[in-house]
Amino acid sequence: MEKFDVIVIGAGPAGCFAATELKRKGYSVCILEREERGHRKVCGDGLSMAGMEVLRMMDFPVERIPAKGAFRIQHYYYYAENRLIQKEVEKPAYCLARNFTDGLFQEYAQQDFHIPIRYGCGVKDIFRREGGYEVNGVYGRKVLAAVGANARIRLDGQDFLCVDRSKPVGISCIIKGKPAEEGFFFFDYDAAYDGTYAWIFTLGRNLYNVGLWRKAEYGRLKNQLAEFMEKRCPEWTGAYEVVRPSKGAFMGIGSPVKSREDGIFLVGDAANTSNETDGEGISRAIISAREIVETYF
Ligand SMILES: Cc1cc2nc3c(=O)[nH]c(=O)nc-3n(C[C@H](O)[C@H](O)[C@H](O)COP(=O)(O)OP(=O)(O)OC[C@H]3O[C@@H](n4cnc5c(N)ncnc54)[C@H](O)[C@@H]3O)c2cc1C
Repeated sequence: MEKFDVIVIGAGPAGCFAATELKRKGYSVCILEREERGHRKVCGDGLSMAGMEVLRMMDFPVERIPAKGAFRIQHYYYYAENRLIQKEVEKPAYCLARNFTDGLFQEYAQQDFHIPIRYGCGVKDIFRREGGYEVNGVYGRKVLAAVGANARIRLDGQDFLCVDRSKPVGISCIIKGKPAEEGFFFFDYDAAYDGTYAWIFTLGRNLYNVGLWRKAEYGRLKNQLAEFMEKRCPEWTGAYEVVRPSKGAFMGIGSPVKSREDGIFLVGDAANTSNETDGEGISRAIISAREIVETYF
């Protein structure tokens, strides 16, 4: 059986950066990813100023983001007492489709750190073995589960990770509208959302990511998104066609979890690291990966 010091499950931001941090420390590591390369997950596709700071802190070559075609965000907009407020974006922030963002992180792990990623390798079971674990026919002394908020995995046949259906849910779609004069993040705070918000982000010159997240009562999410689009899209995107219909996903928000077993650690959304106030998750997932590796390896 092939052997590694650590098996990382999931090639999202948490998994890729956990793997690169482990490699920096001299561990042998491989990543098992359920989806095929280039899979597009449900997201808002936003890389905020804070997110870019975190990537710089991790020594990630951030110039690869605009080089991949990311749309630079110039302004944040929101309404306060029916007045439109415009805020300058002082440091670079971007919108980039998640398959490209995750693709950049995966290439970073593969090409810069020589970490193997096995695609199409969904993990259903982890088995305890002498001094470690067996995962999909690979042996690891330790396991890092960076599987996001929507995964189910068993340990020795018993439920180990399950989707917590009480978590907040986000929904987003991609639309094609009028050409945008600048890149922007528009946030719509509405009393009906109970403290969360809907958004329109420029994903390209005439492409927009539109979405909404809620902490409760998400049975109405699709209808609320449709109402939001009817109200706000004419102003921000003009007439539009839907390029990718709305899809929902649970968000990694809840009580923090780090480890449920001596040698299996949870990172990123699997450990509920997303920001419960603004929903931002990519940067939080990366920070959590670094913290777990620094603390336990
Ligand atoms: C609608 C919506 C909009 C969002 N918008 C933003 C935004 O604009 N900006 C932002 O920063 N954050 C946003 N987030 C949050 C962000 O998407 C997550 O916080 C972030 O992706 C978490 O990274 P992660 O690596 O922990 O998990 P993920 O990115 O979910 O990665 C987990 C990986 O594990 C793989 N996997 C899952 N199960 C298995 C298994 N059993 N075996 C093998 N592999 C498996 C998955 O395929 C996936 O690639 C949004 C979330 C939602 C739902």
